[in-house]
Amino acid sequence: MLKIFNVLKNSKEIFKTFFYKKVFIYVCGITVYDFCHLGHGRTFIVFDMIIRYLKYLGYKVKYIRNITDIDDKIIKKSFKNNENFFCLVDRIIKSMKDDFYNLNILLPDVEPRVTHNIKIIIKFIMKLLDLKNAYISKNGDIMFSISSFKSYGKLSKQILSNLIKKNNNINFLNKKKSKDFVLWKLINKKDKKYKNNISWKSPWGNGRPGWHIECSALSYKYCGKVFDIHGGGLDLLFPHHENERSQSSCFLDNKKYVKYWIHSGLLIFKNCKMSKSLKNFYSLKQAILNYDSDTIRYFFLSIHYRKPLIYTKYSLRKSRLSMERLYYSLLNTKTNNCITEESTMFEKKFMSAMNNDFNTPKAISILFDISKRINIEKKNNVINSNILSTKLIFLGKILGFFYLSCDDFFKKQKIRILKNIISISKIEILIDIRNFSRKNKNWGKSDNIRKKFNSIGILLEDNYNKTFWKIK
Ligand SMILES: [Zn+2]
Repeated sequence: MLKIFNVLKNSKEIFKTFFYKKVFIYVCGITVYDFCHLGHGRTFIVFDMIIRYLKYLGYKVKYIRNITDIDDKIIKKSFKNNENFFCLVDRIIKSMKDDFYNLNILLPDVEPRVTHNIKIIIKFIMKLLDLKNAYISKNGDIMFSISSFKSYGKLSKQILSNLIKKNNNINFLNKKKSKDFVLWKLINKKDKKYKNNISWKSPWGNGRPGWHIECSALSYKYCGKVFDIHGGGLDLLFPHHENERSQSSCFLDNKKYVKYWIHSGLLIFKNCKMSKSLKNFYSLKQAILNYDSDTIRYFFLSIHYRKPLIYTKYSLRKSRLSMERLYYSLLNTKTNNCITEESTMFEKKFMSAMNNDFNTPKAISILFDISKRINIEKKNNVINSNILSTKLIFLGKILGFFYLSCDDFFKKQKIRILKNIISISKIEILIDIRNFSRKNKNWGKSDNIRKKFNSIGILLEDNYNKTFWKIK
């Protein structure tokens, strides 16, 4: 039975969906003003793993991930780059999609863009105004009144009165309370600062939506009044998710509209959260260029999704070595879908780890247990080694691993490392020459070739009547 840590309740709960065997999951997507970094990679690989596991359990999953394509940061960036706003947005969306494809991240069922959904956002705001949860501020912006929602702060475990008291000495021109937030921001076209600015007509004048309202409106549009899981990175808990919950709860007459709130932990780099705004990020493109999808995924899933994950320059190298061990055990095995007591036992252990709030470190340790058994059985019982390797691939794929075939994995790894030293075809030719020399008992020549490989950091292994090579 699957248990999920629900941030709202601050406890692990048995997972029960609103509709039988159907899961609606909404995850806050990217604000498209710059390339994705490893922090984004962690968030979206975590939710990819969750969705894959729910599907394995037999749920029909509807996954919605929005794209924030209107935001101050995007506008600033387009000014800075002297780049057309829409060209910038399209370029970054394409880049994000390429990165996610290269990381074997499943496509969402719906990927709504905010700018395509302005009408429903305006309707949402109109109702909040009617309900007196929103007000028109002195400068004409529409604001949400946090004191109109009694349980404001409940999700992020903060007390409303404290939040209101905080920053109270600051003079907020357009707010009644310091933490009130904008739902609709008016754009004054005469203001030079907003020259060429993006805006839409609304009952309150030309303007654009605030950030938080988009997710309330989009989750309502695609998931309905109630849905099962709302996810995102931990950095979105406050204020974004707190504000989103307040808007939606008021709009839906205080109904509990989300059952489980899930947050993936932060990625820490140089003692800070990895973030574009802090300029301490490692882009996904760089990571994909230097490593492979499985290695990057391994790095994220080797720590429980709620814990902070520290990135160092050795992190991905270590992950690569671990993935190599798994792939290595699959070398020269064949598919065999037969079931044995042992293979069933491994699957049960894997499930029990995953059922415990998606405990991927434990689930990965089961993959290594299988891999060890395959290595032993390769020498004793080839059929059993094939059965176990088939199970290893099956379970690994639930976590999104084994994107590549074994041969492709090693080939890609080696190409990356050796691209500046020696070509793969040259290595293969030299191995053929060495094997020919050995066959003809020309030991001097075969030894020289081995030494040559050794000098550039390549180890040869003669196994299963074949010669394999790996990086030292
Ligand atoms: Zn959101």
